[in-house]
Amino acid sequence: MDSVLVRYHEIALKKGNRAYFTELLKRNVIAAVKDLGVKDIRSLPARLLLTLKSDIDQATATERIGAVFGVANFSLVERTATDVETLRVRILDSLDDTRFESFRIDTQRGDKAFPLTSPEINRVLGAAVKEKSHARVDLEKPEFTVFVEILPRDAFFGFNKIPGPGGLPVGASGRVVSLISGGIDSPVASYRMMQRGCRLIFVHFHSAPYQDKTSQEKVRELLKRLTRHQFNSRLFLVPFGEIQRQIVAAVSRPLRVILYRRMMLRIAEAIARREKAKALVTGESLGQVASQTLENMAVIQQAATLPILRPLVGMDKQEIIDQARRIGTFDISSIPDQDCCQLFVPKHPATKAHLSDVEKDEASFDVKELVRFGVENAAEEHFTFPG
Ligand code: ATP
Ligand code: MG
Repeated sequence: MDSVLVRYHEIALKKGNRAYFTELLKRNVIAAVKDLGVKDIRSLPARLLLTLKSDIDQATATERIGAVFGVANFSLVERTATDVETLRVRILDSLDDTRFESFRIDTQRGDKAFPLTSPEINRVLGAAVKEKSHARVDLEKPEFTVFVEILPRDAFFGFNKIPGPGGLPVGASGRVVSLISGGIDSPVASYRMMQRGCRLIFVHFHSAPYQDKTSQEKVRELLKRLTRHQFNSRLFLVPFGEIQRQIVAAVSRPLRVILYRRMMLRIAEAIARREKAKALVTGESLGQVASQTLENMAVIQQAATLPILRPLVGMDKQEIIDQARRIGTFDISSIPDQDCCQLFVPKHPATKAHLSDVEKDEASFDVKELVRFGVENAAEEHFTFPG
């Protein structure tokens, strides 16, 4: 089959934005299969009909179209001539030995000049499928569905729906900067914000040469996975070890993690402003670790002025792990590494930092200069999908 019928939830889109969202979705669907050769893409009510230059199998369609946010579900479909007899023959042929107890035909007639109405087409094709399969017709909860689209120039049919990832097309909500660590949480947080239509720019802080480069390698692998949803990504690798060394030289232990975090936010925010991004994203989850108590989150966030989006804030660790497995980031995140926040920090960090103490500590090193150092020395890398 060389075509895919891509359905989206039109009602989920605000009326004024619908045309824009549909255009973005179309653009993203094309980007997801561009190496396969796109022949044609047509906009129909609440769906797109994509035709490729060659056949696409279910696994590839699931990998590509199944990763495009905004897609509610899709079906592989075959193109035929626009007459019911051809459709009948092709459908029966393609059914092969497929077994099911109940079925329905679901016809959409985009060509209003077509001689038969949708119910008439359903009846003719339904009788043929019934005769071949001996299954009963069930309009409510069929085990098997045959989709038929009649358009002015050609017709299409396919079987069953494959679920898509839902959400909004990437780009619809604007650009944000995601702080990605190589841990389990931040890749899931990134995924969830892309699903809400954000286009992400990634920032990773590493402590090379004080620590090894595993975290950077992990982030690269994570980006290869995540880029399947936004087709191209930029990553800024910020050398954080020198910044940490200067913080450590200036202040005593308990607040170090908080000071690191605040420096990360400042540097990420400076990059965000330069790149015209509208918010920051983190993988913080309330109470998960010492730096994520409400008190500490409050003190940390005051280092930034852009909104901080924390899509995991109310999620349980197990829920986050389950999602990490589903989106294919868990195994990469589980590779042991040296997290930069473990560098020069106490075993028992403060759980209730006070802003005044933190600010006192920050007065003993040059915050502005360290932010400038981080931003200027960030190395930029690019990722594209399909590669
Ligand atoms: P994660 O699994 O995402 O690392 P975590 O539970 O380990 O999260 P922390 O290490 O406290 O939590 O980090 C909280 C958030 O701060 C991370 O989710 C991430 O957004 C950001 N962050 C932490 N370390 C880094 C880093 N080295 N580079 C970029 N962002 C980071
Ligand atoms: Mg971490």
